[in-house]
Amino acid sequence: MTAMKAPIARTVPGVSPALRLARRAWRLQYPDARRSLALAEQALARALAAGDAPAEGWARLARGFHRMRYATPREAVQELAAAQRCFEATRERAGAILAQVGIGRCRLMEGRARESLDLVLPLRADGLRVLRQEERGMLLNGIAGSYSALGDSAEAFAYMYQALRESSPTRNHGFDAVLYCNLAHELYQLGDYHEALRYIAQGIERCAFLDNARLLAVLLVNRVVCLTDLGRPREALPDIERLLALPADASGRGAHGAAFETMAIAALRAGKTALGRRLIEQARAALAQDAVAEERIELAVAEAELRRAEGDAAGAVALLERALPLPDEGPSLRARCLYFAALADLHEQLGNAQAALRHLRVWQTLHVERAQRASQARFQAASLQTELLRIRRERDAIDARRRSSERAKAELETINRQLAGKVREVQSLQAELKQQALRDVLTGLYNRRHLNEVLPALFALARREGGPLAVALIDLDHFKAVNDRYGHGAGDRLLAAFGQLLARRVRRSDVACRYGGEEFCLLMPHTDAEAAAEKVRALLKQWRAFVLAADGDDGPAIGGCTFSAGVADTRSAPDSIEALLKAADDSVLEAKRLGRDRVVVCDR
Ligand code: GH3
Ligand code: MG
Ligand code: MG
Repeated sequence: MTAMKAPIARTVPGVSPALRLARRAWRLQYPDARRSLALAEQALARALAAGDAPAEGWARLARGFHRMRYATPREAVQELAAAQRCFEATRERAGAILAQVGIGRCRLMEGRARESLDLVLPLRADGLRVLRQEERGMLLNGIAGSYSALGDSAEAFAYMYQALRESSPTRNHGFDAVLYCNLAHELYQLGDYHEALRYIAQGIERCAFLDNARLLAVLLVNRVVCLTDLGRPREALPDIERLLALPADASGRGAHGAAFETMAIAALRAGKTALGRRLIEQARAALAQDAVAEERIELAVAEAELRRAEGDAAGAVALLERALPLPDEGPSLRARCLYFAALADLHEQLGNAQAALRHLRVWQTLHVERAQRASQARFQAASLQTELLRIRRERDAIDARRRSSERAKAELETINRQLAGKVREVQSLQAELKQQALRDVLTGLYNRRHLNEVLPALFALARREGGPLAVALIDLDHFKAVNDRYGHGAGDRLLAAFGQLLARRVRRSDVACRYGGEEFCLLMPHTDAEAAAEKVRALLKQWRAFVLAADGDDGPAIGGCTFSAGVADTRSAPDSIEALLKAADDSVLEAKRLGRDRVVVCDR
């Protein structure tokens, strides 16, 4: 083994220069994908010449992960399986686990989520013990991805947050950017597009410091999805341009999963028919025979949009109906929502009211399911249940062993101490996260979850005391126009300003929260509807006079805003919380109908 001219290098016992090179290639996969591959190739050549199995394993591992992103999952699996054989031969547990994490990720890309979970979940206990910090993050992220594809968002979020905690951005490994990307993906699956856009922006910002075009491409595709679903497809056009400018090879977005169908929908909805047509052709050419259900539905929707743009709405319907997704085929709720919304829309255009309504009903059911999952998932993530459970299980297992061994007793004491410490840590984190989970990030007001928690108590109290409880629902007028005219960032600032105005006006006993996008809710104990309405009218007067200062040179100041509000109390709607909210909501609608810019009191 003397044929290689090894460079002069520090000699670390047991670590060959080739192994050092291979490990370096592995570490560089996120911050510098191209250099990572170049180093892996060099390391592999040396390892093969020298019969250096550990180095061969790490070099193939780095190359396998690179292929996963820039070639196809099939090619990646071959390389990762070869890496795994090297690691098994050299009893390198960390490497073997990582190779399996990679293979699991490939299965996921092929739409085989159950298989992926079966591969990665059993690695958890071992992985958390032997892997380095960000590698632990990769493992947890792999588990999260499988759960996500299986529709179990609660588990997915729990693992993602845990992964995020393992991957501190200060280490400049770049993996945190991957997590921003995946969190965004999970969030928009549940319909939380605004929060998803915030994570995507963070990810894209991180990408400026990395040489990782593939990651940037996936982030951009995610942003195209969000903007399209939010009804702002024109804003996605620059991202599409950027994506198409990236070469489809290892120097750009990679050969696999180019998401042409996603871009096609955005382009067509933005009125760019020629671009849409071209993207559909590219999607058809790129889509593999065994394309996952998600991609097939999106392609069908894109093709239907094209037909519609060409004036053939009936053809578009026929095309979509042939592509009817079955729930057990695995398309996400988001994809199914997209499909049924498109179908309902086309039927409406054709004047088929019955069919439109039927599809809209399906859409609505899916939509409600999405919202439910969203609230469950985010709360469960916040409570970090998985970690606690894991430690408890570990303790129980040791507890069982204790009965047969004295040595285990000492172990139990240690783990009990650890558990107590961990429980304290998790409890304080829980308290902190619970507080965060009750607040809306943008406005600082309480969120709807908090409202749902306190309203029953306030309602019961009012009933017991016989005093009134008033509810005011406030909906900002023509807010979409604000976004359209001044941009979404200005819209956000205006919402935050309204939140502050509202917070300043309420009493300590009042509860002010953000009810939905541009809708707010105010609970006022010991107040009847008339008194509450007076207060809301004063707020409206203040809001009319409010002027949002221009943000630097960015756009003019915004003023002359109004809102419509509906007020009800437990005297006019005593039967249930639902009736109370509905009375307030009906009054908002009435206020809108009467020309907006007013407060309507429920007079039942
Ligand atoms: P109306 O007077 O009938 O209430 O008209 P509107 O435009 O206010 O009502 P619509 O329900 O049509 O639109 C609400 C808009 O609020 C659309 C949505 O994009 C925007 N919105 C919702 N959440 C946010 C947010 O977090 N930030 C920003 N900038 N806009 C948001
Ligand atoms: Mg509204
Ligand atoms: Mg509105």
